Amino acid sequence: MLMPFEIDARDPGSRARAGTLHTAHGVVQTPVFMAVGTRATVTGLEPADLAELRAPVVLGNTYHLMLRPGPEVFRRVGGIHRFMGYSGPVLTDSGGYQIFSLAADRTVSEQGALFRSYVDQRRLLLSPERSIEIQTAIGSDIMMVLDECIDSTSGYDATLAAMERTHRWALRSLAARENPAQALFAIVQGGLVPELRQRSAEFLTAHPFDGFAIGGLAVGDTRAEREDVTLASAELLPAERPRYLMGVGTPPDLLHAMLAGVDMFDCVLPTHLAWQGTAFTSTGRVKVTRGSCASADVPLDAACSCRTCQHFSRAYLNHLFKCSEPLGPRLLSLHNLHHYFSLMREARAAILAGTFAAYARDKLAAIDRHEHSGRPLGVAARGAEPS
Ligand SMILES: [Zn+2]
Repeated sequence: MLMPFEIDARDPGSRARAGTLHTAHGVVQTPVFMAVGTRATVTGLEPADLAELRAPVVLGNTYHLMLRPGPEVFRRVGGIHRFMGYSGPVLTDSGGYQIFSLAADRTVSEQGALFRSYVDQRRLLLSPERSIEIQTAIGSDIMMVLDECIDSTSGYDATLAAMERTHRWALRSLAARENPAQALFAIVQGGLVPELRQRSAEFLTAHPFDGFAIGGLAVGDTRAEREDVTLASAELLPAERPRYLMGVGTPPDLLHAMLAGVDMFDCVLPTHLAWQGTAFTSTGRVKVTRGSCASADVPLDAACSCRTCQHFSRAYLNHLFKCSEPLGPRLLSLHNLHHYFSLMREARAAILAGTFAAYARDKLAAIDRHEHSGRPLGVAARGAEPS
């Protein structure tokens, strides 16, 4: 049986929809932004912080977790929920993207990807079957198939070959699945070639996957290319199954993808930028390490209700970063995640009210205004720093 997913409302002015996903560790309302917890931790935050933020899902990573602590520890402890003291839904990425972007001495064949461990230099194989076996030990609520990621600007022949291998690997993953309580999502590939994206969606949606992800974006593509592929790919996916855009996530990226009918997102950006001292605010990005913040006795964002903005000033945050105190990135992580989760909750409310198209248009215009008011822009999404 497929993981239950209901559509609660459709926006009359766009393809946006609000839904409810039923996982083994709780209900998830969509559209949803998932906090990146690569190594079984959202860096610097405790599960109690995630509960206060009402973080809907935590995303772990098979590549990093297979190397440390290793699947045997998860088997012994009884899975990631118990291991990290967190009882909410967990999604695990398969490791395909990290093999592509991080692994040393990597060779990819039909069998899988051979690479060298950064922990103990051992040569390891990550195959579709091995990825499912590790994700089963981790005990995530939603597993991803192993895919072959390549640069989105690769040529046609390379893109076609990676897509076809991704399809074969997806079927091997489906066959290797052991625990029916763990959902399994397939990943549509095909680079920036519309015809290949269509073939990939047609192939994968003919099989009983619980959901479908749009992969291979934010790896060398422009924002316009990303939006075109997202729009076209989302349209090709079945309306009754969740759609997940992997690793893409500035607030405008999320709004455009929600307009296209995407339900699920993850991105390192809010936490990654928090560790660099950059905050997302209702009036644009703020770099708290700048001199202008040093004596600013005002909250990071006067319009924000998070704990950081309720209790601390920009001057204090500036001081913490200057002294390399770990509380600085922690407070900024709390704020940035609160900013993202608030955006998603507002978006869902607008979809339920049937006003999302107007909401997204106003929000995009406001972000555009702030981003072009002379403030420095940050980094690209997933391509900036793989995690
Ligand atoms: Zn705040």
